[in-house]
Amino acid sequence: MKDYKMWIGGIYSEAASGETFLSTDPYTREDWARFPRAAKKDVDRAVEVAHTAYTEGEWPTWTASARGAALVRLGDLITCHAQRLAEIEVRDNGKLIAEMSNQAKYMANWYAYYGGLADKVEGLVPPIDKPGVVNMVTYEPLGVCALITPWNSPLLLLAWKLAPALAAGNTVVIKPSEYTSASTLELMALVEEAGIPAGVVNVITGFGADAGQALVTHPLVRKVAFTGGEAAGRAINEAAARDFKKVTLELGGKSPNIVFDDADLDAAVPGAISGIFAAAGQTCIAGSRLLLQDGIYDVFLDRLIDMTRAAKLGDPMQADTDISPVATQAQHQKILDYIAIAKDEGATCVLGGKAANPGGSQGYFIEPTIFTDVRNDMRIAQEEVFGPVLSIMRFSDEDQAVAIGNDVLYGLAAGVWTNDLTRALRMSRKLQAGTIWVNTYRSTSYTTPFGGYKLSGVGRENGSQAIMEYLQPKSVWLAEPKPVANPFIRR
Ligand code: NAD
Repeated sequence: MKDYKMWIGGIYSEAASGETFLSTDPYTREDWARFPRAAKKDVDRAVEVAHTAYTEGEWPTWTASARGAALVRLGDLITCHAQRLAEIEVRDNGKLIAEMSNQAKYMANWYAYYGGLADKVEGLVPPIDKPGVVNMVTYEPLGVCALITPWNSPLLLLAWKLAPALAAGNTVVIKPSEYTSASTLELMALVEEAGIPAGVVNVITGFGADAGQALVTHPLVRKVAFTGGEAAGRAINEAAARDFKKVTLELGGKSPNIVFDDADLDAAVPGAISGIFAAAGQTCIAGSRLLLQDGIYDVFLDRLIDMTRAAKLGDPMQADTDISPVATQAQHQKILDYIAIAKDEGATCVLGGKAANPGGSQGYFIEPTIFTDVRNDMRIAQEEVFGPVLSIMRFSDEDQAVAIGNDVLYGLAAGVWTNDLTRALRMSRKLQAGTIWVNTYRSTSYTTPFGGYKLSGVGRENGSQAIMEYLQPKSVWLAEPKPVANPFIRR
């Protein structure tokens, strides 16, 4: 059993109460790490430390170039430690080592990108319609930002927040998921080695309802950046609104992956599989609704089932495993419940549909599951399962595909498979989602915005504009002193 401590003000700390909680390896079902269970008192301490670092410490005296250089150093350190960090994440969330180590290496780009951007946020000198006055607009950090992350990609989704928050000059308190706190705490040694002053980055570990809520409602927190589910997102949005805090919310999805008759099936079949079965379906961007046009429906379905059936379930640490266990017992049960609901609603299970125990493993495995005869008003087509469960629907023409695609409360992403460029453009205009992939799926990058329409979220992460989510404009008026004839009238 590995014992972790929180990271507050550059010191490893226990919870004031002395309480702890455990993390379970989803493949072995063994508890492998122990974390302090933070409560309000710990959160208050972490936020106060972060606030002091923001107002009085060394950090506010750093130039933007110096902050950027530290982020670039952090990115380099992450590259050196990527494999180790990935292995820790696999123990916590059970995802494939192949995926987590790619993510860990790729993640360094966020620190390099926002490190480079730190000293390129330029102010303005707008022309002012009053004589003898110069006006300048500068962009200032917000203060203490709360960064709250989920279990599916803990460090990558943290990088989407931490890199722009620090580049902009804020200080932060991070609360990772209670299921996956280890990698974030391991990152702190690299934050320190990169030379980022103590107190600028702090980590509390604990549960959403106590530590998370105390963090969001703390009066010194000025911004909350959150990735997670709709229910927590709603609670955070409501709590933050009470004190007019800024929020960025990256929430769930029920994304349509739409295949037209003219698509290249050699690309589209693996694209559909990757869309839903990669990461055992535990991605917000999962293409969990597959819409197939009449002309290719049968052949596509046959190929999809054959290729999916060949997927190897097993040890996530093995390079040849295709499907890992899901992250938690609760998630395992939730997915099985949705499979039962889909059957009750009249959908036809053409593959999978049960828990699995490959090689006698006790892990939280679910067979990759495919449902046909799904109507878009069924719960299996409307609600986020966050597991390896695909709902297939049939469509005849573009209008019907758009209508089904958009008929959902979420709007995170959509896929379109076609060789007709004008159709691709039409579809990308009509689909209501923050990301549209044409003839590809699941790509994200530090250079382009990511976020949701409708219930999938508020604000955007990634891309050059995302740094503005961590800044506020200040307008400074510089006037020649002049006697004022009548001070009671606004000039
Ligand atoms: P979750 O909402 O249960 O938890 C996410 C984080 O929020 C955890 O750290 C949790 O402790 C914390 N939290 C929960 N309630 C809180 C509260 N009231 N106040 C403050 N913090 C609180 O999500 P999860 O189960 O860890 O992750 C899965 C969800 O995340 C899925 O819905 C998925 O779609 C979503 N997700 C979205 C994106 C995206 O970028 N849009 C990416 C990955 C995952």
